[in-house]
Amino acid sequence: MAIIFDSHTHSDNSPDGSHSITFMCEKAVEKGLSGLCITDHCEMNVYKEERFDLRIAQSIFETNKEGRVFNGQLSVLSGIEISDVFYDLDLTNQVLGSIQVDQVIVSQHTSEDHMDVYYSNFKLWSSQQIHEYLEWYFRYLLDVARWDGYDVMGHLTYPIRYISGVHHIPVDLSRYQDLIDQVLETVASKGKAIELNTSGLRQVLGDTMPNFHLLKRFRELGGEYVTLGSDAHKAEELGEGIPRAMEMLEEAGFEYRTVYKEHQPLQFKIV
Ligand SMILES: [Zn+2]
Ligand SMILES: [Zn+2]
Repeated sequence: MAIIFDSHTHSDNSPDGSHSITFMCEKAVEKGLSGLCITDHCEMNVYKEERFDLRIAQSIFETNKEGRVFNGQLSVLSGIEISDVFYDLDLTNQVLGSIQVDQVIVSQHTSEDHMDVYYSNFKLWSSQQIHEYLEWYFRYLLDVARWDGYDVMGHLTYPIRYISGVHHIPVDLSRYQDLIDQVLETVASKGKAIELNTSGLRQVLGDTMPNFHLLKRFRELGGEYVTLGSDAHKAEELGEGIPRAMEMLEEAGFEYRTVYKEHQPLQFKIV
């Protein structure tokens, strides 16, 4: 059986998470995982209003505690999923400088108006508006990729989860291939990672984020590091889709999967 490490998980320290870190660790053991990284949300656009300072401190404290409790049984690593990092870059740097975690996932959940696209009803958007948003999104990701404060770029094709998944509007990603190539090339040349996010496999999208084509493209452009994450918001989702993600990694030409510890990419042979 493949060894499953889940690099992207949310506890109830995330506003949309369901379970305590203790319960998640118990469930991870029950499911036979080798380990997990707790990457609770930190949304910089609403950092103060939603008290992410307290949420993050609590998440890291509990993760470290459970790391000691489950020592020898389960590898419990600490992390953060930080979004909208340029909303207030000084604050972002201050937050990241004040915490000690194993892995920083950078994501972009919000559109240009700093609203999470989870709330966007793309059915009311014209195809031109969707096109402009996607162009903005990948350009923004390029700036994020060039920035230094992250280890892993999270769910590269996040808008597709909503545009195509939730709202069933087809998107031709090849229109953005030049931009996406620049993003992937930048991440690769900086020695950083992308994640293969498996949440879409169990959701309406029915695919990973990014998809196989872009995963392969990352390899072709010199990418070495790929983490695998379920983006579980409930304990029962832990590890979901990761065996499939490992097959995809191999098919795309990777020999290793990556786990971040103290911001260092550790490579594990895919078996
Ligand atoms: Zn996310
Ligand atoms: Zn997430």
